[in-house]
Amino acid sequence: MKRAALFAILCLTAMLQLPCRAQATADRHILLNGNLVTPGGLIRNGWLDIFNGAILHLSAQKPQVQNALIVETSDLIFPGFIDLHDHPTFNVFPRWTPPSKYPNRYAWRNSAQYWDELGGKANQLFKGGTRFCDIDEYAEVKALIGGTTSMIGFGNVMHTDLLPHCIDGLVRNLDVATGFYGSGQGYERIVNSIGILPLDMNANAAAQVADGIRNGKIDLLDIHMAEGRADDEESAQELDLLDARGLLGPHTVLVHAVGLSPAQFTRVHNAGSSIVWSPRSNFELYGTTVNLDAAFRAGVTISVAPDWSPTGSDNMWDEIRYAHEVSAAQFDGLFSSRQLVEMASEVPARVARIDDKVGSLAENKLADLILVHPADSTALDNPYKAITDGRITQIDLVMIGGRAVYGEPGLLGRFTQHTEALKVCGVDKSLNLDELPDGSFLEAQNRLEARMKAIGSSLAPLSECK
Ligand SMILES: [Zn+2]
Repeated sequence: MKRAALFAILCLTAMLQLPCRAQATADRHILLNGNLVTPGGLIRNGWLDIFNGAILHLSAQKPQVQNALIVETSDLIFPGFIDLHDHPTFNVFPRWTPPSKYPNRYAWRNSAQYWDELGGKANQLFKGGTRFCDIDEYAEVKALIGGTTSMIGFGNVMHTDLLPHCIDGLVRNLDVATGFYGSGQGYERIVNSIGILPLDMNANAAAQVADGIRNGKIDLLDIHMAEGRADDEESAQELDLLDARGLLGPHTVLVHAVGLSPAQFTRVHNAGSSIVWSPRSNFELYGTTVNLDAAFRAGVTISVAPDWSPTGSDNMWDEIRYAHEVSAAQFDGLFSSRQLVEMASEVPARVARIDDKVGSLAENKLADLILVHPADSTALDNPYKAITDGRITQIDLVMIGGRAVYGEPGLLGRFTQHTEALKVCGVDKSLNLDELPDGSFLEAQNRLEARMKAIGSSLAPLSECK
């Protein structure tokens, strides 16, 4: 049975006590052993008791549970990453190297080079002759191999109310289908917008979002804001427009915020808004990034996310690594490894008001996890460095709602025999075939490769493996 159909039945028959994705897992306990990276510290050689998709119990001792699937590892176990800034449909395109640096995003969006090399081809790809589900599966697997378990961005680009059912599977889509509130689409509480200017969000749409926030139906407006250099007036004025629309408040996160001044960061903080930092894409397009010192001094909450792979990182893990390098080289080590990993998990969960469900390892949260192979025994001294100093191939397992979806073949094989082999940066990995929303990954990839060639482009690699 197709997974989406199975979910629909399970969710209709269950009384929605737990999120629907959790209902789909077998009613057998999983006892998962490893070094648990929790907000309160590391539990060495600890245990997670996972049941019905959620973490029932965390402990230093092995729990006594009958008929459990017992999986022992020496891995570090982190919460999965939560990506608040992405454009997954574009992540099938290869890297785009801008010919020069731009003052703001309007400059490159309107440039002939962008249109010839990426924008026009993207339109061709999205408009017809391409199976959306191939793009969806490729982009989600690309995110997954970098540890992402929740992401945003599918809801905006295709400009359609209802996406094909494949969107319901694999990685949680925060603006379309998470499984947190119901099975399928139409339940989500996060709105994604690529800007506040009328071409991206007209006054009517802005008023609807403001109403939704007031009425408690929308938890978060995730909106691109001030994506341009600090001396760029066009970018600086966007904050005033957002405010005038009644949308500068605690239910808004500003994506980019590169053009904001220290005084504007104080305003953002006082309003209770936060920002998403996407350094790699900022440097590639504008040659600069957020005035982090000013944002930090103003007390602004900061999440980190990759934007899109044409000018940003391929995935969350690589963007965390990049942010770590920028923090060390340009901001005097402003952020520690721990802070950066939390800016990709615990912090965005709080910002998106889903921290009662995901974002950290704690009892009653969903089992959205990544298992990371420690490089050596010293890795336990500062587990967060395993990510800021490590490589995505160290990911041994990704679990979403208690279901193992990707990982090292031997470990994934403990959870399912129905797998598809995959090479990631030359290392053997596997995908759980039952979880793939569009069937065989290789077949989806082949179809997409042919389609990309037909529109005069090529398919981006899953990872550049830097
Ligand atoms: Zn963006």
